[in-house]
Amino acid sequence: KWVKHIPKKGTEEIRCLALTLSELSAELQKQEEWRKNLMEDITHELRTPITSIMTKLEAIIDGVYEADQKHLDKMYEELERLSRLVSDLQRLSEAKGAQFAMNKKCTDMTKLAKQVYVNYHPLALKAGIRMSFEPAHTPAYANADFDKMYQVIANIVSNAIKYTSPGGKVSLKVKWTKSHILILCQDDGIGIGEEDLPYIFNRLYRADKSRSRFTGGVGLGLSIAKALIEAHEGFIEVESRLGEGSTFVVVVPNFTQAN
Ligand code: ADP
Repeated sequence: KWVKHIPKKGTEEIRCLALTLSELSAELQKQEEWRKNLMEDITHELRTPITSIMTKLEAIIDGVYEADQKHLDKMYEELERLSRLVSDLQRLSEAKGAQFAMNKKCTDMTKLAKQVYVNYHPLALKAGIRMSFEPAHTPAYANADFDKMYQVIANIVSNAIKYTSPGGKVSLKVKWTKSHILILCQDDGIGIGEEDLPYIFNRLYRADKSRSRFTGGVGLGLSIAKALIEAHEGFIEVESRLGEGSTFVVVVPNFTQAN
């Protein structure tokens, strides 16, 4: 009986292994594609300010431009943007790596969101924006890495503040459903146009390029957030209208229900 059974089990194991290997190779292929696209985006994004700084410096060296305050300020601004881009890229690669190095625990999502609220409330006040927080009525637990999820919600809240004018409102809410925990961040800010909406989670995408100068963003925050949420078996959705405001919803599985 044993002898008969072993080869059968072996075949099954080999089939499983083959399946795992093919899944693994598909995943590697996807990652390779992702990396290739990212490299193209980065190259493009780095080239623009570098070319601009080099052109200005050459003009100064050749005596065409004077090294006056205006030109120095402009070059400094471009270098600052480069520096932000590099640190955001580091965060992005950490986020991607983080999919394999998550420290997931049963996490109280109301507590997490409240902490974001407490830390960002002063920033909103300073920008002349009213900010509110509404906890879930039922304890809302997710199997989450606190620091990574904090980073996600903080990013969304900081965007809401960044893209809302003085006098506006930002609200952060946690909602409980049997199967999922929802974290909603609503603002009545500048909103996102219909043509931009499908792309805002893409790397280096900014709805309006001219916004970046004013807000200092490089368009990586939401792609990092998306990668981190997906590493929590969750998803992110957005509803927005230009000139009216945006609502971002982060959805993660309800941990108490799953266990
Ligand atoms: P950035 O660093 O430019 O803020 P993100 O990846 O965080 O990059 O966001 C991508 C783009 O999505 C932003 O440049 C902005 O155009 C748009 N966006 C994100 N959040 C909001 C919001 N709450 N209101 C309006 N536009 C937003």
